[in-house]
Amino acid sequence: MVRTRIPPSPTGNDLHIGNLYTALINWAYAKKNNGKFIVRIEDTDRARLVEGAAQQILKTLHAFGLDPDEDMIKGGPYGPYIQSERLELYKKYALQLVSQGDAYYCFCTQERLEEVRQIAITEKKQPKYDRHCLHLSAEEISEKLEKKIPHVIRLHIPEGKTSYTDLIRGTITIENETLDDQVLLKSDGFPTYHLGVVVDDHLMEISHVIRAEEWMASVPKHVLLYDFLKWELPVFAHVPLLRTPEKGKISKRKGAVWVSWYLEEGYLKEAILNYLALMAWSHPDQKEIFSLDEYIQVFDLKDINPSAPIFDVVKLTWMNGEYIRKMEKGKLKEEIYKFFGDKYPEDLIERTLPLIQERIKTLKEYDEYAHFFLEAPKEYEIEISKYKELFEKTSSALTEVSDWKAEKIGEVMQKVALDLGIKNSEYFMAMRVAITGKKISPPLNESMEILGKEETLSRLRMII
Ligand code: GLU
Repeated sequence: MVRTRIPPSPTGNDLHIGNLYTALINWAYAKKNNGKFIVRIEDTDRARLVEGAAQQILKTLHAFGLDPDEDMIKGGPYGPYIQSERLELYKKYALQLVSQGDAYYCFCTQERLEEVRQIAITEKKQPKYDRHCLHLSAEEISEKLEKKIPHVIRLHIPEGKTSYTDLIRGTITIENETLDDQVLLKSDGFPTYHLGVVVDDHLMEISHVIRAEEWMASVPKHVLLYDFLKWELPVFAHVPLLRTPEKGKISKRKGAVWVSWYLEEGYLKEAILNYLALMAWSHPDQKEIFSLDEYIQVFDLKDINPSAPIFDVVKLTWMNGEYIRKMEKGKLKEEIYKFFGDKYPEDLIERTLPLIQERIKTLKEYDEYAHFFLEAPKEYEIEISKYKELFEKTSSALTEVSDWKAEKIGEVMQKVALDLGIKNSEYFMAMRVAITGKKISPPLNESMEILGKEETLSRLRMII
C-alpha cells in the first residue's frame, strides 16, 4: 500500500508554494498507486506557531483539489494527525532509546551549550555537543531527574557510517562523526522534528517520504533512529528546491512564496498545478499543458530530475493565459465573478468576455480591460481636447442611430471620419480614448454596443 504524506509546520500565513509542489507530487503518487495521501501537522515549534495556519493549509489544499485521505479534521485510522496531540508516543520511544543506550539524558544549561559552541568556533571545529552528560552515572541521572532539573534526551550517534538510498539521488553515505548528538525530546516535552517525523512516519505506515532536498541532511539521523527502533525504512525521494530565474530562493519579500499570493494575483489553480508539475519533470511527449488526471497517468517519481528547476512567474503567466483562453466561457465567467467578489455583475462579465477572453493572462487583468464598463474614465491617455469637433460630429451622428449594434455604430463612425478627412487610425484612437480612457481596449464598436447608446453619448458630451 502506497502511503505518502506532507507534514507542514503551521508557522506561516499559508501553504508555501514549495510545499504545494511537494503536496502535488505526494498526492499524485498516492493517486497513481491507489494509495493514500496524508497531511500531518508538525506543530512542535511552539515559538513559531501561527494561529489558524493549520486550517489555512488544509483549506488551500482543498481549494486545489489535493484533498488528503487522512488529516486532523477528517481523521483516519492513524490519528491524531497533529503532533501536539501525540506527545506520549514520542516520550515512549525516547525512553525506549534511553533504556537501549541509543539515547541519553542531557541536563546541560543553555549557557553551557553556548560556551561549548563558542570554543568550537574559536578552534575552527564543527560546533557539536561535547557529550558532557553521556558519562553521567545512573545515580547522578536519577538524582537530577528527581530534582526535576530541566533536561532533554539526545541521540547517541554511534561510530561508523550511515547509508541510505534515495530514489532520485541514489545511495548516500556519510561519516557518523559529522553528526551531532541530536536532541530528540525537548525540555518542554515536545519532540524535535527528527524524533517526531520518524515516529509518525513509522506509526502512520508511510511508505514513501517525498520531500524537499533541504531535509536531506537530516536523513542519516533518521536512518539511525529507524535502525535503533528496528523499524523498516520508507522509500526516500528528495525533490529539488524551486529556484527563481536569478537562481535564488523564492523570496518572502514580495509575498510570492505563499500560495495565496498567486490566487490574489489571478492565477488559476489548474495552471499553477500544471506549471508546478513541470518543475524538474517533463511530460513524456514534451507536452506543456495537461490535466491533473493525465499527470497522474504519466508521472513517475524516478523521472524527477535532481537539479533545481526554475520557477518563473513570467512562464506561469503565459501558461495561465493559455488556460484562460481554453476555458469554457461559463466557467471563466464564474471565476472572474468570484475573483472580483461582486464588483462586476455576472451579465456584464458574460457580455464582455467574448471581447476580453483572448486578451488576458490572469483573472486580475480582466479589470484593466473591463473597468470602463463600470464607470466613465477619469483620466485619458492622450490629449483629447483638440478633438472637440470630432466628438461633436460623432455625437450628433450617433444620436441618430436607432439600431444600436456594433456594426451600425462602426459604419456611422467610419462615415464621420471620412467627412472630417481624418485618418482612420487617428479617429478611432481619439474615440477609443474618449470612451475607455485607454489607448488599448477591447474592440471599440462592440464595447460601445455593450455600454449602450445613452452612456456612450454621455461620455462624449462630458468631453465636449
Ligand atoms: N515540517 C517539515 C516542513 O515544514 C516537514 C519536512 C518533511 O517532509 O519531513 O516542511
